[in-house]
Amino acid sequence: MLLAIVEALKLVALFVVGDGHFITGVFVLVCAYAGSLFVTERLFVIVKPKLLTLPWFAKIWSWFVAIRGKFLQCLRRKSGGDRVTAQASEKIVELRQPTQCVLWEHPDRVAGQFAQAFEEVESYEDASHLSRSLYKCRECGQLYFYEWYEWVDWEHGNDKQYSTFVPVQTAEEITALKQTDTFSLLRFFPRLQWDGSKIGWIGK
Ligand SMILES: [Zn+2]
Repeated sequence: MLLAIVEALKLVALFVVGDGHFITGVFVLVCAYAGSLFVTERLFVIVKPKLLTLPWFAKIWSWFVAIRGKFLQCLRRKSGGDRVTAQASEKIVELRQPTQCVLWEHPDRVAGQFAQAFEEVESYEDASHLSRSLYKCRECGQLYFYEWYEWVDWEHGNDKQYSTFVPVQTAEEITALKQTDTFSLLRFFPRLQWDGSKIGWIGK
């Protein structure tokens, strides 16, 4: 029944094209082919059990299913692999605890006398809402990767400032930190966090 409609549509298409309405004819033809594809797929679902009783068809079909399975497995393994890589990049990084530094026992020293306590070694970023640089403790020489970040609350106007100090030692650690964004920076422990009111070590 449906197939008959599809075939009739194709005939209509031929007449339309013959009449000079090329675009309309092509459109009807495309609809007809899409329709027949749909009907064929439906038809296959219905006749498949019957076809599978034929030995030659069953053989070809099982071969096709096996290949399709392998292909899907391959695709799945690939996306699974991507997930593993993503997890690896989200892993926690533990750094040496700066126990010799006065900040370790007195984290509140970062507030107030910041300039007296630290000197800037290098600046990486200096924007209106985000700045990043490398600071050195004037007292013990401990290096800190420092990020200052202002969260702009457009809706309520409650802007918040966050300062983060990550104690670093090696050039590799500094490179890794430079590659983070504000959120992946939180993978590093221990770190000193100051949100404008509370100051404290995370992961001490
Ligand atoms: Zn220090």
